[in-house]
Amino acid sequence: MPPIFDGSPSHVPLPRLDHVVPARAPWSGIVRQGETLRLVDSFGQQAVDTLFYRADDFGERYSAQDTLRAQGAAYLGTGTKLLSNEGRVMLTITADSCGRHDTSAGACSCESNTARFGEETRYLHSCRENFLLEVSRQGMSKRDIVPNINFFMNVPIDPAGDLVIADGLSEPGGTVEMVAAMDVLCVISNCPQVNNPCNGFDPTPIRVQIFPPEGL
Ligand SMILES: [Zn+2]
Repeated sequence: MPPIFDGSPSHVPLPRLDHVVPARAPWSGIVRQGETLRLVDSFGQQAVDTLFYRADDFGERYSAQDTLRAQGAAYLGTGTKLLSNEGRVMLTITADSCGRHDTSAGACSCESNTARFGEETRYLHSCRENFLLEVSRQGMSKRDIVPNINFFMNVPIDPAGDLVIADGLSEPGGTVEMVAAMDVLCVISNCPQVNNPCNGFDPTPIRVQIFPPEGL
């Protein structure tokens, strides 16, 4: 018997994973070689702090420095190869509705929030704590948290060379897609920051989808 037609176009592959990450929460999962990771900024203006580790050797991980040096540009977008600290391609960005993703400003922490926004904000949850929670589930610790990618986060560089954290540019439903060149562990902190405009002062849920390799 043929499968029951459910109205979806047959050439569009179904994701093997389709998961909503609640506002402020962390997430981690494996993306296999050849699979496509799609991040959806469901409500717009949400910074998605992300790290990648080689799945079978966490000592090899995303390197912001190598990635920026190799591409000779300050932002990530379509065509960017995300390099590891061993200089190997981990993933390639293949689609991007936003046009600007930061990898220079790092992740928010209790310390940086307190310095920026005052002692009364010290108790607030931060990306660094989200990262620590997720990497500790894999046997990693503080020392394994390296400079990250801030998908959908707008960090313009002003004429004096300073980084400016500005209003997010990404629209509701905005997406970024990347194809894995090796098996990777993806670790996400859906940024809980409420004191700067990177989240529009209002953290919102995002969606993580993983699609099988093309042709399968
Ligand atoms: Zn954050």
